[in-house]
Amino acid sequence: MGFVTKTFQACRWRPRGLIGVANIQNNPATAIHLQLKTLLRRVQDLAGFIVKSVRLTDDAKGKPRIEAVLAADPRFKRRCSCCGEPGRVHDHMKERQWHFVPLWGIPVILRYTPCRVICPTGGATVEAMPWSRGKSPYAVAYMLFLARWARRLSWKETASVFQTSWEAVRRSVEWVVEWGLENRVLTGVTALGIDELHWGRGKKSENFVTLIYQIDAGVRRLLWIGHKRKEATLKEGFAFLENQCDGFLAGLRVICSDMWKPYLKVIAKKAGWALNVLDPFHIAKHLNLAVDTVRRGEQSRLRDKQAKAKVKGARFLLLKRGTRVRGKARAKLKAVLGSLGATSRAWELKESFRKFWQYRSPTWAAAYLQAWTTRALRSRLEPMRKVAKMLRSHEDLLLNYFRAKREYNSGVVEGLNNKARVELARSFGHRSFNILKLVLYHTLGSLPEPPSTHKFC
Ligand SMILES: [Zn+2]
Repeated sequence: MGFVTKTFQACRWRPRGLIGVANIQNNPATAIHLQLKTLLRRVQDLAGFIVKSVRLTDDAKGKPRIEAVLAADPRFKRRCSCCGEPGRVHDHMKERQWHFVPLWGIPVILRYTPCRVICPTGGATVEAMPWSRGKSPYAVAYMLFLARWARRLSWKETASVFQTSWEAVRRSVEWVVEWGLENRVLTGVTALGIDELHWGRGKKSENFVTLIYQIDAGVRRLLWIGHKRKEATLKEGFAFLENQCDGFLAGLRVICSDMWKPYLKVIAKKAGWALNVLDPFHIAKHLNLAVDTVRRGEQSRLRDKQAKAKVKGARFLLLKRGTRVRGKARAKLKAVLGSLGATSRAWELKESFRKFWQYRSPTWAAAYLQAWTTRALRSRLEPMRKVAKMLRSHEDLLLNYFRAKREYNSGVVEGLNNKARVELARSFGHRSFNILKLVLYHTLGSLPEPPSTHKFC
């Protein structure tokens, strides 16, 4: 950047909206000059405005920046920003500046003095400027640009790569998400997944968020996020979606959820016609938790140093699906199971429950469930007995899985949950729920984007 300024100073030539670009033949006689004005008009809709000048200047810190001064095109009437109708000019305001997409690492600033027009519906309002939204000091194209990058990088990285502030990235994402939520289409949603995500530390209600996904074949996206995991939370989510799309709840056929009581209650009450399916992914989570509780209890009772060393690092192996533990890990798992009796029995129960999901007929699945829970209840392993009791009391919902089998894919909720957790980890440090909400909507919501004349990235 220093190089650019220096060269300009050396030849004492200050560009006025011109950047010299040799043509393909590289013949100085026929060299064309690409004007920055042309480039700007190409990437930004400026209908009704003219680019008066484009200059390379220095900012307060002596760093170069490109300034484009815009003016109203006298051939056109000014339009009102709220209704888009042409109106008479009321008065002029102070000059404003907008940050635009940087060019070759040089910040670009748009300058314009807006006026207020008399809106046909009454009152003086700011004129419509296609590059501007509300009071934001960032041009629309720039906000879209930052928001797109914020999906690939963390917000902090985006800000640092494009030499802007974290706040600029936040505002950009916020605008894009708000636009997307207002303009998305919610018709035709038949399958929902309801999931909770642990956020922060501890098991308090504040440390969970409730997520509602659409899990229809071909359309998998996050529809709603709410703080906590209470009955009121889910009710609020349903009300929000119903409000955005009339008949949303009536169109549902399958709702896939966890055994969490507040959720089940609200689903039965607000969308009782949909099959409430308990997802294998959620059941596996409960089983894994039970195995882990047994293991921790047993491991803490070990006194012998050698035995302790033998079972070190067993946790991950035990939680993994048995058939996916191979090679050296398999030998280690065998050793662990050999030395921890109770854990081994719990692990074996967990693994054998997989068979349940493979049945086709609800009747046979029910018979298997009966046999499995009987075995678990006699196992003298308290955590496993707890799971067995829970499964028995939810037998009907569990069997819905076989009734709804053709209508949804059980891996979907797990996949979305994993993605959400990755985003959560990436945005770690943002304690505010509003930021988390923006991050998740932005990355998992498959939201439509505001239209743009040019795709910058
Ligand atoms: Zn108006």
